[in-house]
Amino acid sequence: MFGLADCNNFYVSCERVFNPSLNGKPVIVLSNNDGCVISRSQEAKDLGISMGEPLFKLKDLVKRENIRVYSSNFPLYADMSQRVMDTIISMVPAAEIYSIDEAFINFDGIAVDKLHKLASDISQQVKTNTGIPLSIGVSKTKTLAKIASKLCKKYPKLNNSCVMIKQSNIDKVLKSYPVNDVWGIGRQYSKMLYSNNITTAEQFLCADPRWVRSKMNVTGLKSWKELKGTPCFGLEENIHDKQQICTSRSFAKDLFDHEEVIRAVAKFTSSSAQKLRAQNGVALKVMVFLYTNPFKENHERDYKTIFIPLEYPTDNTLELVKIVCRHTAMNLKKGCGYKKAGVVISSISKKEHTPGFLFDSGRSEKGDLLMKCLDDINAKYGRESIVTGTQGPNRIVYNMDHLSPKYTTCWDDIIKVKV
Ligand SMILES: [Mg+2]
Repeated sequence: MFGLADCNNFYVSCERVFNPSLNGKPVIVLSNNDGCVISRSQEAKDLGISMGEPLFKLKDLVKRENIRVYSSNFPLYADMSQRVMDTIISMVPAAEIYSIDEAFINFDGIAVDKLHKLASDISQQVKTNTGIPLSIGVSKTKTLAKIASKLCKKYPKLNNSCVMIKQSNIDKVLKSYPVNDVWGIGRQYSKMLYSNNITTAEQFLCADPRWVRSKMNVTGLKSWKELKGTPCFGLEENIHDKQQICTSRSFAKDLFDHEEVIRAVAKFTSSSAQKLRAQNGVALKVMVFLYTNPFKENHERDYKTIFIPLEYPTDNTLELVKIVCRHTAMNLKKGCGYKKAGVVISSISKKEHTPGFLFDSGRSEKGDLLMKCLDDINAKYGRESIVTGTQGPNRIVYNMDHLSPKYTTCWDDIIKVKV
């Protein structure tokens, strides 16, 4: 038996934990650069605000309805997520953290009549430990569990837990469940299904599996089987290391000053190298991409991808920044204003499986110590407390006009109580 634990309106809920005056009010959280809505309270949903709506389109509504607006505060959300997941993991046989606010749970070995109580206990415990409301759906497969968790949000009387095991109940739910809301059926497949008059999960199940296989490949067939109650996706407890690590950003303005582009590339490289060390990997290839603004007419254009093979596998920030910035500098086109850049580190292998080099003479050992020191300082005093000289002081500016304090990860922001 599978469960899906899903935090309700997660980012908004995190803001509410530390600012209870937001309860009962319409609240939205915005994406990076204060662009679009990425989390909404129920009150904001009731006002018709949809996911992904840009803030500039909502200006009047925000003012009229006194909607509380927040910039995304990822250090806070990541820390709260960790606390939620720790509680879930401590109460179940096995769990797979699926995203910042979702975890699949394996309920194997737990008697069916105990499932409802356990699901509601987990939801209660998470609320007590963290203040975050959590919905849990339980069913025969991951896909059905996900549907069950969505029912919790639709029907408040379920009190945040829904066990959907009886076939008659499943049939009843699938009868009206929109096929485009089924986990794994993306926008393209939904379109195709709609054009074949398949709009509900029930209609999808009535389709011939051979037809499903021919139109939607084996992944579509797996979704079909999962809806039928046959598990095709197991629990993935060991999160695999990344095969490539990408860090990229759009800039607030076009960068004609190429020194700024190089500083940004150095920053992206440092960030990727730090992630590489965190998974104990070394990389043998780096790719850099540089784009000018595609929407600006009458401007010099440049869309460049630079492949940089490394002489030996490394995880050393200083070595990577040096070579990446040298290649970037050679490839920047005069007169171009760059709007976006990114660094992709690939050909990653485990550090302990990488052979040493004969003429190394202690270079890598010293480098390792230095990198450990760098990571320790940044972990203790905050990200980018210490950076490479090439990167310089942080000059990439993002819009974050509505940011809440980092209540749980920054000493200066901790809540003060007067007694
Ligand atoms: Mg959620």
